[in-house]
Amino acid sequence: MLASMKGMVLTIVSAFKKPVTDQYPTKPRKLQDRYMGFPALTWDFEVEEPYCTSCMVCIRQCPTQCMSATMKDNPLQKEGKSKRRKIVDTFEINLNRCILCGICVTVCNFDAIVMSHEHEMSVYERNGDRVDLIELLEMGKRYQEEQDWVPPSTLKKKAAPRRRPAARRPRPTKKASQEEKAQPKA
Ligand code: SF4
Ligand code: SF4
Repeated sequence: MLASMKGMVLTIVSAFKKPVTDQYPTKPRKLQDRYMGFPALTWDFEVEEPYCTSCMVCIRQCPTQCMSATMKDNPLQKEGKSKRRKIVDTFEINLNRCILCGICVTVCNFDAIVMSHEHEMSVYERNGDRVDLIELLEMGKRYQEEQDWVPPSTLKKKAAPRRRPAARRPRPTKKASQEEKAQPKA
């Protein structure tokens, strides 16, 4: 009897408590900054071009081989507006095969790819999640704007302590080195 009364009280109290569950998808939970969604390509707003030079490093390292890309000569470099000699021409990721491991982001030397916050991209077709350069850059721009994104290499430079230049030892003159050689050894 006492046990069933206790159970009733617990049920009534729980009914008036704030629910711990989220009402997805009507009220999705706020994503944490560190959340890793699908990979996306970043946009260099200073030069107005992608960061990606299509160097292929991420493509070679991707464990599921879900990425492909091609490069071209950068017309903005010829005009003196960009330092990038080569630039991405086409890029495709098959997001159905991506395992969100983040290796592509780790190996990229050009701040060109990020793990965005995009995740609600399921489709019914088997190969319906192939995203091209335009879509990847759109995803990247959204992420950059949401996060006030700063290129990791710039952050690293700011965080690195300034190294003092090592004091230079004076070079021995020719005469001094001759005198040193001429001295008998003890
Ligand atoms: S995203 Fe980075 S590693 Fe991948 S092709 Fe572009 S520049 Fe190279
Ligand atoms: S997150 Fe991993 S699986 Fe997905 S594209 Fe990058 S390297 Fe490939």
